[in-house]
Amino acid sequence: MCSRQIHETDVISLIVDGNTSSLPHHLDMLIITDPFIIQKCIVQCNSAEFVFGHKTLDGLMLYKPAVHLLPGGNACLDVCAQCHSSLNRNVMPKFALANDLYRGQLPSQFTDLTWVEEMVCARFRYTAHITRLFQSSDPALPNVLHGNTCAHEMNVVSTASVLPRTPSDINETLSVVFVGPGKFRREFLKDVYRIRKRKVWSFLTWLTSHNVHYLDMHLDKTILDQYPEDDMLPGITDNVIEDHASDVSQIFLEETAGPSEHPAELLKVPPSEADEPFVFLEKVGVSDPEGDRLSGRTFVSRALRNLVSDMGNSTLPDLILHRGSTAIKEYKNPELMPVCSPRYGLSA
Ligand SMILES: [Zn+2]
Repeated sequence: MCSRQIHETDVISLIVDGNTSSLPHHLDMLIITDPFIIQKCIVQCNSAEFVFGHKTLDGLMLYKPAVHLLPGGNACLDVCAQCHSSLNRNVMPKFALANDLYRGQLPSQFTDLTWVEEMVCARFRYTAHITRLFQSSDPALPNVLHGNTCAHEMNVVSTASVLPRTPSDINETLSVVFVGPGKFRREFLKDVYRIRKRKVWSFLTWLTSHNVHYLDMHLDKTILDQYPEDDMLPGITDNVIEDHASDVSQIFLEETAGPSEHPAELLKVPPSEADEPFVFLEKVGVSDPEGDRLSGRTFVSRALRNLVSDMGNSTLPDLILHRGSTAIKEYKNPELMPVCSPRYGLSA
């Protein structure tokens, strides 16, 4: 019944009699009652997630692989100790799917959504992203790059009233620092900032019919004209700061110092010496995810230092960190995370 993925934990087996009509072990509190999930999952037959082929258990919010049908009509449920203890006391288990923690299933055609495509579809955004790309210091391998993207929290949530977001809206909070002796080429960014307009539109139309946070969202198809069929985010090349002076290997070693090797270090032999760029990026890091080591001021100063020391003569900002006068509620704000990351939102 858990929404958690726990590995190697002891489970307690609960036996459910196939001939009884009343639910034992206080399991009745796990019956689906959310009208949205009932309508989208069950009535529309979109998912058989809570149908187990056992008339006593059908309609309970259980994790299917933990339900075992036994010969003779009985069933056995694997329950973790924490959930079991709550059930025994007739208390809703804290991490139960039925405790408003069900988030639906993402259809397989959206599993390859890029982070930029998801950002274009997100109603809320509260992070600015800085990508650092380090070119190989080996002059023979100018097309081999590695780096990371770091998400910096803004203390205000950018909300969209119309979707998709426009490229300029997205570009405001993105910045790329290219560090290397050689020339920067726009192709370096193609994989990292890939966007496909058809994918964006089909994701948005799916969200407005299957995600409770998007039901009344206004979609404007004309905004799609600003996006390519399949290319990088328009305008992102204007956000690139080039640093040809710094020592790539030294900065990379300093910044990735840690108890284990950076994954890029493991690539002793790059897979290709062809003209095609090879970019090895650690997905997306979040600086200080617990928020307990850095003050807000240090956060911002580090984000800015991540840019470059010499800002040149331009008066235009390289990155905009939105700041608001009122704090965003991170607690008791169940909409915040699902809407920032719609692929994980409540959908059925
Ligand atoms: Zn559990």
